Parts: sequence; C-alpha cells; structure tokens
Amino acid sequence: MSRHIFVTGGVVSSLGKGLTSASIGMLLERRGLKVRMQKLDPYLNVDPGTMSPYQHGEVYVLDDGSETDLDLGHYERFTSGTLNRHSNYTTGQIYSSVIEKERRGEYLGRTVQVVPHITDEIKSCILSLATPDVDVVITELGGTVGDIEGLPFLEAIRQIPLDIGKENCMFIHLTLVPYLKAAREAKTKPTQHSVQQLREIGIQPDILIVRTERPIGREHTDKIALFCNVEKRAVIEEVDKEFSIYEVPVGLVEHGLDELICQKLHLTPGPLQMEDYRQLVHRIRNPRFEVTIAVVGKYIEHRDAYKSIYESLDHAGFATSTSVIVKRIEAEELERQGPEILLKGVDGILVPGGFGMRGIEGKIQAVQFARECEIPYFGICLGMQCAVIEFARNVLGLKDANSSEFSGDTQHPVICLLEGQKGVNRKGGTMRLGAQPCVIAEGTRTAAAYGLPEISERHRHRYEFNPEYRKEFTDAGMAIAGTSPDGTLVEIVELVRHPWFVAVQYHPEFKSKPHKPHALFKGFVEACLARHQLRAGVGISENSVSNS
Ligand code: GLN
Repeated sequence: MSRHIFVTGGVVSSLGKGLTSASIGMLLERRGLKVRMQKLDPYLNVDPGTMSPYQHGEVYVLDDGSETDLDLGHYERFTSGTLNRHSNYTTGQIYSSVIEKERRGEYLGRTVQVVPHITDEIKSCILSLATPDVDVVITELGGTVGDIEGLPFLEAIRQIPLDIGKENCMFIHLTLVPYLKAAREAKTKPTQHSVQQLREIGIQPDILIVRTERPIGREHTDKIALFCNVEKRAVIEEVDKEFSIYEVPVGLVEHGLDELICQKLHLTPGPLQMEDYRQLVHRIRNPRFEVTIAVVGKYIEHRDAYKSIYESLDHAGFATSTSVIVKRIEAEELERQGPEILLKGVDGILVPGGFGMRGIEGKIQAVQFARECEIPYFGICLGMQCAVIEFARNVLGLKDANSSEFSGDTQHPVICLLEGQKGVNRKGGTMRLGAQPCVIAEGTRTAAAYGLPEISERHRHRYEFNPEYRKEFTDAGMAIAGTSPDGTLVEIVELVRHPWFVAVQYHPEFKSKPHKPHALFKGFVEACLARHQLRAGVGISENSVSNS
C-alpha cells in the first residue's frame, strides 16, 4: 500500500515549499524507496503555459509536453523519477474535467457541487499516482493555508486518510518563524495561527518544518510543539542556506527528518545513502575557480523567470569546481547602453528563450558582441533564433533579416512559422512541445559535448530556422550541428570559427541535474573558464580545461 505525504504551507508564500518537498523526495529515494511527486496548484489557469513569467516565473516543460509549475523542476533535479501530466494539476484542470463529465451526463442528473464532485476529482488525481510499485506519493499543495481558492484541495486531502487509513498518510506543514530585530526575538505566533487554521479545517499536521533566517533553538521549537499539538521531535527548523539550495536535504537529515517520516508512516527502508551527495555539497561550498556569465533576457529582475537556466549553470559549475556568477542583463537596457558597457569583461554570454518583440534588438546586439569578440555564446530557443538573425544581418548581409514573429513583412524571414503552426489560434498547449529526437552532426562541438549521435530534448516554440536559407548559412560558417531525424528541422547551429558558439532550438536546461550537469551547459562553462583563465594570464589552454 503506497503511503501519502501532503505538504502544505502557511504564513507567507515563497517559503521554498517546492524545494523542501523535493528534498523529502530525495531523502526517501536515498533510503531505497520509490517516490512519486505531485504539485496541486489552486489557480484557475489550466496550466502556467499562458501565464506571464512576471506572475509565475518559468514554465517547466516535461517530456510529454506538459507545461507545468517550476516546482516540478526541483522535483526532477532532486529525485530520479520522470514526471508527466499527472504530476501537476490546477483548479482549472479539475473544474474543466468535472464540467466535461457533467456535459456528458456522467453525474446522472445530480446537482454537481464542490463537495463531493470537485473534491472527488482532486482525490482521484492524487490517488492515481499510488500504483503498486510506488512506496510514497508526495503531494505538494500550492498557495498558503487560508487562501479561499485552496479550500477544496485542503478538504480533499483531509478526506484521504478516512478513505485509505490514517496510518498511510502524513501531513507536513511548512511555516515561517520571523525574527523581529526590534524585539530581538523569533516569533512563533504566525505559525500557531497557521496551524490553527489547518486544524479548523480538520487537518492536524504531523510534522512542522519552520523556515527561519537564523537558528531559533529548542526553546522556540518546543513552544511551537505545545501550541500546535505536534510532538517536540516533529518540529524541525530549516534555516536559510548560506551557499546553495542543494544544502537543504543535508540540513533536513541533520534534524532526522527521513527517520521521522519513515517511523510515522511505518516504513522500514534501508539506511540513508548520502555520501556522494555530501561530497557534492562539499564541492559546491569550495569552488576553485570563478567565471562571470551574462544572461541577457527580458524578465531579468524576476529571479524565477529563468530558474532552470540559472540552476543548470550552477550544475556545470559544480562539475568544474567553478563558481558561476550570473550577471543578469535586461535586454532593453542593453539597447540603451550598448554591449561594450554592459558586457565588458564577462566570460560568457547566454540568451535564453522568450516570446515577443520587446528587447529583441538588445539580444541581437549581445549575440553580435559574443561573435565578434569571440566570447563563448550559448543560445537557447529564442537565443538560437537571435543568433540566426544576427548572422543573417551582419555576416550574410541580409539587412532586414528577422523572425516572422517580430516582422510580418521582412524580405528575409530567416526564422519562420513551423508548418504545423500555421492557422493555430488557441494559445494554451498549442506550441511544439515536449521531447523530440535530434540527430547530431559528427565533428561538431555539440557532438564532442554530448558524445552521442542522437539525443532527445524538450521543446517549447512555434517558430523555426527557415530551411530555404540553410546553404547560405553553412557556406558562410554557421554550421548545422543537429536536425530532426528526417533532416527537415534545424535544432542546433554552431559557428565554425569561434571558440564556443552553440545555439539550440530546444531547452537543455530542463534536463540538467546537480550531480549530472547537462553536456552543453558543461561545455559552455568550460569554455567560459578557459577564456577567463587565458585572460587572467594563467595560461591554461582551452583544450586542457575541456579535457580535465
Ligand atoms: N518565441 C519563439 C518561438 O515561439 C521562441 C520560443 C522560446 O524561446 N521558448 O518560436
């Protein structure tokens, strides 16, 4: 019988509930258990695919093409299981499905209500993950306890122990214990109130994880235990991590969280295998080198908008003992100030994915600067399209070259709409999405990085390299390093005469893990490091770095 862990959050949002849930998943896996992760989001959007990155941060794409919440990125980075469309449900999806059933007459004329029909639908989404091979299903509930829109979800998880047995379920609640400078004291009251709210609904948390800026000590955790009706040993503090989010699981082990969960759920798995992970954390804390990489994008001030890209750069840094400093540059600011000022001294330039016209010319200037100054360049999705436009304009001399996304009447649409995209009007879930195979050309930098003739990577775009221009590009030195297996779609381009200039139509950032960086991110960071060291006069050549 699979066990269920429900993770809720209280007091404030952005507590790192996704990270904590993913860490719990990691610890249980490292005790030999088979874990499934799931996120329930109480908003009405059917998926985050149509939401602004300002509102929602990055859209995380899965192999099956689902556009999901960015917490699923944490799940995939921390645990081994691949996720699919059942790993993320929103209120929008739940209601759509109930309304469809109602239209089909499946409720046989009964009045359709939040309780039991919406709650039953939620319960079936949760319980469907509990297949016989799964030991533990971890379901994280988005939002904060007390939000009106979260109520049907809380009601559904309240009912589940009654359906499948209390002993098979556990509630973990994450809260904040703020430190008030004026009073020089950590305050437990918001946590008490948040748990009170949960208990009013009928949920008694089994474990409380309290997020704090600085250690709060037993006195406070014991007080929380008493007022929240939780065992003393089940109040666990999770102090902000100094270096990296990847330290979170180690901190939770120190407080015995894995053992506590296993005891409470009557699980008797093997011992915790954390040695390699501890070594990784040691490497993260003690880098030997440093590089600065400019990320030129549109949603730069929003830390979560390019979440997986920042994580992937870090992973590549972990593998090369390099601390990657990201210089986040607003593309429109680059248009105003010019690349010489904003990109001076960086060791590498990355242009991430994006949509719409704003900032495009700044991104194209960044590409030009990288190409002409021989600075390592990594283009991702829109970053690849910008590289193609820049090359067309400044090397091929096609002055008004553009993507038909930005200019309907350009003479040279070097990036144009995918055949299957013409006539698509609906916005949600209609792009070229999910895992697609790609064949890599021999002798390219990409081939060297991957060491594989064929790969599979995740996509999320409508436009593509216009095949009519292929010959002109390759003749002038922009090689086509990867295509779809039938050879029709260009997936990867490279500059032949450049230290490291690779641009891909897909999103490699969704497949990088802390202990297994993505091949291209690793290749890129190695190239940035080589440039940094050459400039610093250490005299290490690019080859010696990539071979190390
Ligand atoms: N806007 C571009 C397209 O739709 C790029 C998309 C992206 O970068 N994810 O093709």
